[in-house]
Amino acid sequence: MISTDPLIQRRSPTGQVTGLDACPAQGSEQMPESKIAAPFSGVLFTPKAETNRKPRSAEDPHRKPAGASMTLLELASCASAGSAIEPDGSMRLQTHVKSADLIDFAKKHGPLIAREPASCVNLCAQGRLQSIEESTSLWASAALTANIATLAAELASGALPMRNAQKILAGLSHWRLQANEGKSFELYLISRPTSASYAHWLGAPCFIRREVIGERIGYAFLLGNETGYPPSTLEIALALFAEEPAASDFSVLMRAFDLSIETGAQLAEEASAATGKRNAVPTQPERPGDRTLTETELSFNEEDRPILGLLCRTLAVAHMNDIQVDVFSTDESTGPFVFGSYLSWLWYDFSLGIGQARIHYCARCGKGFSTAGHRGIEKRYCSDRCREAAHNERTAQSKAWARRLFLQKEMSIDAIRKRLFAHEQKTTGSERIKKWLSSWPDLKHALDEDIQSKGWGSPLLARCRKEELDLDKLLSAKRKKELAELKKRKGGPA
Ligand SMILES: [Zn+2]
Repeated sequence: MISTDPLIQRRSPTGQVTGLDACPAQGSEQMPESKIAAPFSGVLFTPKAETNRKPRSAEDPHRKPAGASMTLLELASCASAGSAIEPDGSMRLQTHVKSADLIDFAKKHGPLIAREPASCVNLCAQGRLQSIEESTSLWASAALTANIATLAAELASGALPMRNAQKILAGLSHWRLQANEGKSFELYLISRPTSASYAHWLGAPCFIRREVIGERIGYAFLLGNETGYPPSTLEIALALFAEEPAASDFSVLMRAFDLSIETGAQLAEEASAATGKRNAVPTQPERPGDRTLTETELSFNEEDRPILGLLCRTLAVAHMNDIQVDVFSTDESTGPFVFGSYLSWLWYDFSLGIGQARIHYCARCGKGFSTAGHRGIEKRYCSDRCREAAHNERTAQSKAWARRLFLQKEMSIDAIRKRLFAHEQKTTGSERIKKWLSSWPDLKHALDEDIQSKGWGSPLLARCRKEELDLDKLLSAKRKKELAELKKRKGGPA
């Protein structure tokens, strides 16, 4: 696969194709089966004007391989999934793709896969790259699966409460399956709408991994992309057995998955190969109805926490299927690995960060980010943009508050300053409040009305004078003229 990569010259060891511009694309690869709504059908990447650009590593080329940048979190926050209740009371999965964030990510990081057939790679006759197009549904699928993994990682680490697992991960379910022959096992399921090309890139349907979790043995599968299965849905299925499953247990499991006989047999064979002992795989699995299977839905509790870890690792392993080993690689950031796509690098990098870096959420936009490698004051915002916007929002709020306290609560500037800027220097805080009040049209209006009804002995005017507000700004031209005439008549300054 790697050897036929036409972009090998442009691809960094992290699988990233650099030096490309990104913009929304319309039309060419509309996915009629897609349930994922976005205002454009794809992301189009075109080479930037030629410079002497060398392909380089994704983030910081001098970064130590141990420090994960967790850029996958950024991709994950481009999409979300929630449950919506239908008029008939049933639950429906609702997905949301933040198109602007998605395009921002594409501009910053380039294509996710940049490889046929998942992506559309256009070369000119001389073999030079003309464009790469990746469908919106492929990008949305990538963001939605990343979203599952980042939330599952947090549930597994204890950062999010298990009792809310089904709210946090919409569509997550937990079942006990009891076959009438006596054996029972547990099944954890979660699914997301996915483009066929994405499910294909992941290799679904397939067995992913076997893990011993406490007293139980877990088998993880990716389902979907199969005839007879709901189209464009990717399902992650984790089966937990109390003891090593026998061939007959696998056939019960495949029956629960509702797979075709061929696919069921193939998955059962892959999974039983992982047990280490060769099980006889039934060539003629029973048809549904041969034996009954009782399904009981279970809730989630603390004991399920490690299963969320398995969910996260299952997705990570599924996404790292195009990594090759090059023990002589000299690239610092990737170590001995060569990544076939940037997406697999993102998952590898995320896997390194799980358990090390805490995931933080931006105090303004809610985007997840990692603070790995960050020292000093704890970061509260995902980006400079959010930090500045939050600062401006805070200022606007203080301004509105200060004005209200002055006019409605009749508080003195010093009292307002103590309430709003207690930590700042006295003069800077007071000066700022004075400026806000002096430039406030509402105060100007209120002052005018107060003078109108109470004459020049207006209490509000007296307060404004006492607090040294800018009366030149606060008094209307008419009032200033009146005041000047008044002074002239009195023959002295007011
Ligand atoms: Zn933010």
